[in-house]
Amino acid sequence: MIALENVSKSFGDRTILDGLSLELEPGRVTAIVGPSGAGKSTLLRCIDLLERPDAGRIVIGDLSVDAAKASRAEVLALRRRTAMVFQQFQLFSRKTALENVAEGLRIVRGLDRRDAEREAAEQLDRVGLSAHAAQYPAQLSGGQQQRVGIARALAMQPDVLLLDEPTSALDPELVGEVLQVIRRIAAAGQTMAIVSHEMNFVRQVASRVVFLEGGRIVADAPPEEFFGPDAGERTCSFLREYH
Ligand code: ATP
Ligand code: MG
Repeated sequence: MIALENVSKSFGDRTILDGLSLELEPGRVTAIVGPSGAGKSTLLRCIDLLERPDAGRIVIGDLSVDAAKASRAEVLALRRRTAMVFQQFQLFSRKTALENVAEGLRIVRGLDRRDAEREAAEQLDRVGLSAHAAQYPAQLSGGQQQRVGIARALAMQPDVLLLDEPTSALDPELVGEVLQVIRRIAAAGQTMAIVSHEMNFVRQVASRVVFLEGGRIVADAPPEEFFGPDAGERTCSFLREYH
């Protein structure tokens, strides 16, 4: 099971997540949508404790952590079971694509250089970048950089892959190649939570759509229902804004 239980988070006197509970379906894609400032990034970042909730629990498999009081060891244990793909890629600019992927394999998974590079090469192949392994981020397109980011995350063999608007920093013509890679990973049964404004993609790939607003989940439905004719009024006005 991968779940948030009664997670709350405030910044100053502003409540961003208000006792929120959410269980992610194993092997499936949960999409998180909502207006800007709704707390979507905060929610994702609370799962791996990049953001420390004020209250609640994070559960990943047999690991159940009191999020507000998690020890250093618990934080590391959670991070070993999760991997994040960021909007701005966050690659090391002085490392090649291969080295960017190999780094975590050495440091987090403890592989020696040769094994790390062998496995990094396999992960780059999964995202269609074998031919670019020796290139530095500045020599890659945005779409290719993000695919390196995805390969790096997959190399951690996470129980859950967290993607925060993975295509929103890309030029429109580069969005498709990244979505295609994510689609393939989803089809392989990787559990994912993805924040995205790409509604066509969400409709096709997500098994569930969670609509976040005002710190709460205001809709939680399979895409047929979420995008269907009987969606609630708030969902409809949100979708009109984003289409
Ligand atoms: P967007 O669609 O624009 O990415 P979001 O749904 O991801 O929005 P969050 O980034 O989670 O929203 O932010 C939710 C609210 O919390 C925003 O009002 C933001 O300004 C505030 N916030 C986020 N991080 C911090 C922080 N470190 N300190 C103070 N306020 C923050
Ligand atoms: Mg965000």
